[in-house]
Amino acid sequence: MSSNRVALVTGASRGIGKAIALALAQNGLDVMINFASQHDAAAQVQKEAARFGVRAELLQADIGHTADHPRVMEALAEKFGRLDVLVNNAGVAPKVREDLLAASEESFDRLMRINLRGPFFLTQRLARWMVKLRQTVIDYCPAIVNISSVSAYASSINRAEYCMAKAGVSMMTQLYAHRLAEFGIPVFEIRPGIIQTDMTAGVQEKYDHLIAGGLTPIPRWGTPEDVGKAVAAIVQGFFPFSTGEVFNVDGGFHLRRL
Ligand code: NAP
Repeated sequence: MSSNRVALVTGASRGIGKAIALALAQNGLDVMINFASQHDAAAQVQKEAARFGVRAELLQADIGHTADHPRVMEALAEKFGRLDVLVNNAGVAPKVREDLLAASEESFDRLMRINLRGPFFLTQRLARWMVKLRQTVIDYCPAIVNISSVSAYASSINRAEYCMAKAGVSMMTQLYAHRLAEFGIPVFEIRPGIIQTDMTAGVQEKYDHLIAGGLTPIPRWGTPEDVGKAVAAIVQGFFPFSTGEVFNVDGGFHLRRL
């Protein structure tokens, strides 16, 4: 069994997941770097994480495909023998932004499958294991962190399926926080705002204008590292009497202003 704490970060080959994996590696956690298809990008993250002197492993798996989930747990058990931190980060945006009145069932099902159904059942499977690990791992200090979005509450009528999936992730956080509290497993939600990654590359100009016009009190794009630091802070265990908490990493986007 690994002597370091171990984190699984889903969707860690790029963007926010990559920054989270590196922030956790920097904090001394071994990391399982999950990706869907971009092996080379994930291998680069593995190399960068290893520079922090921890063990980093790669795991291809489609989080939206529940048949892949047993393999995720087996890989963790085989490579590390434990799981301390689960970060549900993998997610996708709609391939095409379509008005609510024209949105397709296909896109709805895809977004729900990858962004909500997959994380829900992966968490269920891994949480059962974490409950058991708690009895055997000395000084076990677990956590589950779900990456939702400001879209969990902000209405965007050209990507309803994304908003609805992220709203579901918020409730999922509350449900698992409630259920796992008795086992000492806190569950947190991070709501990133507008973060510069591949996901937002296609709408860069639009958000440049909005940010310049005052959309966020902190007048800049968020970086993946902003989110990575928030996860690292949670995982350090400095919130021992909290669970179900929401951390807004959004430059103040959520503030109502007059
Ligand atoms: P990104 O740059 O598009 O990266 C997505 C990551 O998820 C990649 O590592 C990708 O793997 C992985 N992935 C996609 N589908 C997957 C699947 N079915 N199974 C496993 N891995 C999968 O996205 P990002 O901007 O970093 O977003 C990360 C998370 O933050 C998402 O949940 C997103 O909704 C959320 N978020 C993003 C923003 C933003 O402004 N960027 C704001 C709020 C919330 P491959 O490289 O193999 O494709």
